[in-house]
Amino acid sequence: MMPERHNLKNSITHPVFRQIGNVSDQEGVETYIIGGFVRDVLLGRKREVFDVDIVTVGSGIDLATKVAATLRPGLKVSVFKNFGTAMFRYNDIDFEFVGARRESYRQESRKPVVEDGTLEDDQKRRDFTINALAICLNDNRFGELLDPFDGIGDLENRIIKTPLAPEITFSDDPLRMLRAIRFATQLDFIIEDKTLAAIKSQCKRIEIVSKERITDEINKIMLTPSPSIGFKLLEKTGLLAIILPEVQNLKGRETRNGIGHKDNFYHTLEVLDRIAKNTDDLWLRWSALLHDIAKPLTKRFDPRLGWTFHAHNFIGEKMLPALFDRLKMPLNEKLRYVQKMVSLHMRPIVLSEEEVTDSAVRRLLFDAGDDIDDLMILCEADITSKNPDKVSRFLSNFQLVREKLKDIEERDALRSFQPPITGEIIMETFALQPCREIGIIKSAIKEAILEGEIHNNYDEAYQFMLAKGKELGLIAKQM
Ligand code: ATP
Ligand code: MG
Repeated sequence: MMPERHNLKNSITHPVFRQIGNVSDQEGVETYIIGGFVRDVLLGRKREVFDVDIVTVGSGIDLATKVAATLRPGLKVSVFKNFGTAMFRYNDIDFEFVGARRESYRQESRKPVVEDGTLEDDQKRRDFTINALAICLNDNRFGELLDPFDGIGDLENRIIKTPLAPEITFSDDPLRMLRAIRFATQLDFIIEDKTLAAIKSQCKRIEIVSKERITDEINKIMLTPSPSIGFKLLEKTGLLAIILPEVQNLKGRETRNGIGHKDNFYHTLEVLDRIAKNTDDLWLRWSALLHDIAKPLTKRFDPRLGWTFHAHNFIGEKMLPALFDRLKMPLNEKLRYVQKMVSLHMRPIVLSEEEVTDSAVRRLLFDAGDDIDDLMILCEADITSKNPDKVSRFLSNFQLVREKLKDIEERDALRSFQPPITGEIIMETFALQPCREIGIIKSAIKEAILEGEIHNNYDEAYQFMLAKGKELGLIAKQM
């Protein structure tokens, strides 16, 4: 081990750290930085926003309050009495204080019985060896690294491993199984064999964890550069079948009459990794994960056509509210956005397979509205054929669709389509009470615009309305 690895004085230059050390000396308590901050310093991982966890062998609330008072009069300290923690924000960094503790757990709950403990007790209850590293802040030991479980070795070998026997760590808090997979994905680390085996054997215990926490971890996996790492691990450990059975069911391939279909689980993961290169939008990434979820339900074998997944986009769209609800994801415009992406995900592809007509492009633009660019990103990510000729043909046709989209959009302003003629105008013109004919005329105008028979403007639509009214035997009022 390199000697400077044991002293990290030069890596913790933020003045608040010295201040925490000084106040701790005055109070006669030992205090350490612990957890993610230490791990990321050792990894040289730069983060835009971060929080720092401070553990003291004493009262975390007292220490936080006293340190805050020396930093700035009136600096707000949030105290969570039930958890024995306190935090303040200083220079955009969250400092979280907790007293060192030991914990014991009961089978049926994540809520432990907590007692005061030593630093080592506290390190033992941490989730992984790489998250159990501590740096002392007291003046005479400032920068000293405390690493009872060889977290340094695991950082060097890029390994996720629990400090205690993994069955104990995971049984105490099953959320840690998901955290293991999340860290493996974020850091591109390997989960140590015994740790992985313990996740497999205890995967069912994830059921006692709240849906919000589960979703939070899935979202963190989703937002990494290669989310597939995490989903493969979720699948392998049995967790995926419990938390996202719809995605688990995509796995597998079948062959009949010598015709096989692709494994939609691995296809989906490829789409997800491909889209991750082009967007950081969480909901567009979710759309990629869920775009084919109705394939298992709609799968049929037709001796003439081979495998079909008829209407899997629409059925998929209908499966989403229940899935979002179960995972406590937002049932608002985010859900509606993912539904739209799933229902439309094949449209640009179908377009690029045929001759790209203006009217088909107009219809796509009308249906996708402002989400058209996202839809194109999803669709491009969905092209995962192993055949390079096929891929390059798709991509060049796609380019054509993009150009046509741009062209038509400039002319027709269809992205935020508002009918140029309203129901009121129609009623006024023909002196009508609410009736069927109004709807007929309105949709005829929309069709005429989408078909390119008239332009998307008031004058042309007005003339069209008059002609259509005449056809229906209506008489326009004299103006
Ligand atoms: P990040 O902030 O990137 O999510 P982190 O390691 O800082 O990573 P936090 O959730 O902020 O993770 O937790 C801070 C520290 O608290 C962890 O490093 C770990 O030591 C400990 N910790 C958090 N959650 C758990 C848990 N469920 N079980 C055991 N220890 C935990
Ligand atoms: Mg953190």
